[in-house]
Order: sequence, then C-alpha cells, then structure tokens
Amino acid sequence: MSEQDSHHIENDPQFKGLNVNSGIEQPDSVSNDSVKRFLQKKRKLLPVQDYVDGILKGDITLLSKAVTLVESSKAEHQKLAQQIIAACLPHSGNAVRIGITGVPGVGKSTFIEALGKYLTSKGEKLAVLAIDPSSERTKGSILGDKTRMEELASDNNAYIRPSPSAGSLGGVARKTRETIILCEAAGYKNIFIETVGVGQSETAVHSMTDFFLLLMLAGAGDELQGIKRGIMEMADLIAINKADGNNVEKADMAKVQYKNAIHLFPRKESGWDPNVLTCSAYQKVGIDSIWEQIEKYRKQTVDNGYFYKKRNEQATYWMHETIEEQLKRNFYDHPEIKEKVKVLENYVLSDKMSSFIAAGELLDTYSKLK
Ligand code: GDP
Repeated sequence: MSEQDSHHIENDPQFKGLNVNSGIEQPDSVSNDSVKRFLQKKRKLLPVQDYVDGILKGDITLLSKAVTLVESSKAEHQKLAQQIIAACLPHSGNAVRIGITGVPGVGKSTFIEALGKYLTSKGEKLAVLAIDPSSERTKGSILGDKTRMEELASDNNAYIRPSPSAGSLGGVARKTRETIILCEAAGYKNIFIETVGVGQSETAVHSMTDFFLLLMLAGAGDELQGIKRGIMEMADLIAINKADGNNVEKADMAKVQYKNAIHLFPRKESGWDPNVLTCSAYQKVGIDSIWEQIEKYRKQTVDNGYFYKKRNEQATYWMHETIEEQLKRNFYDHPEIKEKVKVLENYVLSDKMSSFIAAGELLDTYSKLK
C-alpha cells in the first residue's frame, strides 16, 4: 500500500476486505499550451474603442462580438455593451426598420431571402434580426432551428443574427433593439425584424420598427392563421404569399377580401393607407412592388413628420421598458425576495393570504432591503 493510500480511513485494518486506492489526478482537458493561449485570447474582452472602430468600419466579426455582449447577462459584458451602444448611437438611426410577421410556414424566411437578395442586387446592405417568443417558453426556437436564408447568409451585404434566446420577451426585445443600433452604426441601411405572429412579440416588434408587414396565406381563415385583429390593424401592408401555381386565383380573391376588411379599420395616425398585395416569395414575384410600398411609406411619413414622431415615441417607450425590466430583474433576483416569494406563494395558494397583501409584503420587504 502506498503512503497516499494509507490516508484513506477505509484502509484501516479494522475494515477487513476493504481496500481503497487513490485515484489518479485528472489531467487538464486542454494539454496543448498554444490551444490554451488561443482560448484565453478568444475570451478576452477588447477595449470599447476597438469594438466601436470595428463596427463603424463595418467589420462583421467585431459587430457579432458586440452583439454577443449585448445578449450576455454577465454584468461585465453588459457594462461594456452599454458603452459600445452609447458610442454607436450618434451613428445610428439612418436605416429603415421593417417588422415582418406571419404564422410559421407562411414563408417569412423565404420572403426575407427574396427581398434581401433583391436589395443586395441593387447594392444595398441589410441586417436580419429576429424576436422569437418560443425561446421564452420552451427554450426552443421557431425561427432558429432550421437552415434558413441560405443564399442570403452567404451574401456579404447581408448580416443575419438569430433571436437572442434567454430571458423574458421584454428582455429579448430590448436586446434586439440595442442590436439595431449596432447594425445601423455598421452601415446596414435596411433592418428586418422577423417574428412569429401568434403572440405578443409583434407588439414588441411594432414598437421598434418604422414599417410593419404582415404575411398571410390565401384560403386559410384568419382564425386558422392565428392572426388577431389587433395585428392586422398594426400592419402597414398585408402581403398574401404563395400566390403561385394554382393558388394565384385564391390569392387574388383573398386580396379583395382583406382590402375590404382593412378599410373598416380606423384611419392610421401616420396618414398612410395600408395596402394588400400578393406575392410569391418562392418564385420571387411581386417582391419589387412590396419594396415600392415601403419606399413610398417612408417618403410620405418623413414628409408629414410621422416617421420621426414615431421614432421619438419608441425611444421613450424603450426607456420605460428598460426601467421596468431592470426593476423586475433586481427584485426577483434578490436572494431574500426569492425565498420569501416561495413562502408567500404557498400562503396565497392555500388561501392564507390574498395576492394583494402578499405582493404588498414582498414590495415592503424589498424597499427595506435597499
Ligand atoms: P416561415 O416559417 O414563415 O419562415 O416559412 P418558410 O419561409 O420556412 O416557408 C415554409 C414553406 O413554404 C417552405 O417549404 C417554403 O419553401 C414554402 N414557401 C415559402 N414561400 C413560398 C411561396 O411563395 N410559394 C410557395 N409555393 N411556397 C412557398
């Protein structure tokens, strides 16, 4: 028995039949020194100015690194991200921000690819971001789990970033809004924000975009498509996709129906009359007419001042959203509150306390902690 083995109490003669050997020391998982140095270097954060200079030059690698910081929940990363955003802010705001929504399968990625290629063929740059509500509930992703926009992904003038996956919808939306600022500073003049039109995420998307495009299908009732009336009211343009093959006639009929339906909606503050068009993202038909509408909208709302009014309203909206989000996070993350929430939840569930009294007590406790 080695000297080391004799340290094990089980090896004492009183425990007959037991013999415990010392294990061997666990080797380092990375034995190659140059690999170690590479990994350390990879994780190292850069000075703020390096990110900012890179972004302003349109360097995709540095832009992506900065977006990763925006998405990170580490305090150190967040601090750096906020400094980068502050430095990029004066260089942002000059893109057109387009929200695109529609149920899964309607053809959002096919459409964005078609419109994106149309724009890059004209020498334009675009960024595609997403807000994916599924990540909130299931940690899965509707918008990120398939190979999407392959053609656009390999286009140097397009930057595609999947939805940030962690956190509440408010948190994910805030990160996307901050990413818009970075992309604009990097010279992307067209920003697409995609979301699945089935929940509340389109309200978040609407609150950060200039133009809201709703993709629909012909022959499927609104209820079937899960599109709520409120979402249709938000739309600046409805495009009926998959208007190809023997679907063309149905799409034209749907166009008339939707046109009649949206006429009944209250007039928009923007002064813009939403239109209904048909397109085939797959066959790249009708894409140019849709882009014309977006350009027309932009011109009209810049001329009547609504474009900037809406942007200002969005800026204050996001200030309040960020405060709410931060306050909520601070509250629920506090260890004492975490404990107390569990206890009071049980009181509420067993009718020992009303929800309001429990909430009051928690808020009281929190205010005394500060
Ligand atoms: P998303 O879930 O909304 O992003 O939808 P996808 O872009 O992934 O499209 C769903 C399916 O519809 C795919 O199989 C596409 O090839 C198909 N699709 C998309 N656009 C069109 C179109 O304009 N015409 C036809 N016929 N099929 C399309």
